[in-house]
Amino acid sequence: MSLRVKEIFYSLQGEGGRQGEASIFIRLADCNLRCDFCDTDFTVKETMLLEQILEQISQYPCLWIVWTGGEPMLQLTDEIVLFFKEKGFLQAIESNGHYWLPENLDYKVISPKGKSDYAKKINPQADEIRLPIQKGDIIPNQKSLPEARFYFLSPVFTDDKTTTKANIDYCVEQIKQHPEWCLSLQIHKLIGIE
Ligand code: SF4
Repeated sequence: MSLRVKEIFYSLQGEGGRQGEASIFIRLADCNLRCDFCDTDFTVKETMLLEQILEQISQYPCLWIVWTGGEPMLQLTDEIVLFFKEKGFLQAIESNGHYWLPENLDYKVISPKGKSDYAKKINPQADEIRLPIQKGDIIPNQKSLPEARFYFLSPVFTDDKTTTKANIDYCVEQIKQHPEWCLSLQIHKLIGIE
């Protein structure tokens, strides 16, 4: 079995309910969407056998994998998750919620993009819902989203500081009006790590 991979890197989880935890990020290539605010390059860099990925990630003193993208569910399967589970890894995923997620994942982040009620139909439960928010976005009703332990609004960071600050201020105001949500900041961008 092989995967089309953009990059593999070791860092801290920068946002959401696992913020600050060391994690091995495996960014898989390709996405089913083209969001206007997307800041991620998810073009294919190389195709790797699972054994090659295992060899690369085994150099790190960490057992958490984060499957990200792009949209990792374009490639991830039950068999692949099981392969890494049997090697002792814990596995989180960050998905846009358009696909059914494998059983053996240990932490599921759904970050619905655009119209969000599709995510609940496909995956009724998640550990975390994380919504990127730009000034003016409408905050969806939680009932339209999968059940989750955490509900986060994540202001979109851009190269323009004024726009970023406007997005943060907007999120803060929205959370004050809808206190069932919490703020998640992309601290990896704030502290300048990958
Ligand atoms: S779903 Fe995520 S990775 Fe895909 S285009 Fe949208 S923001 Fe980018």
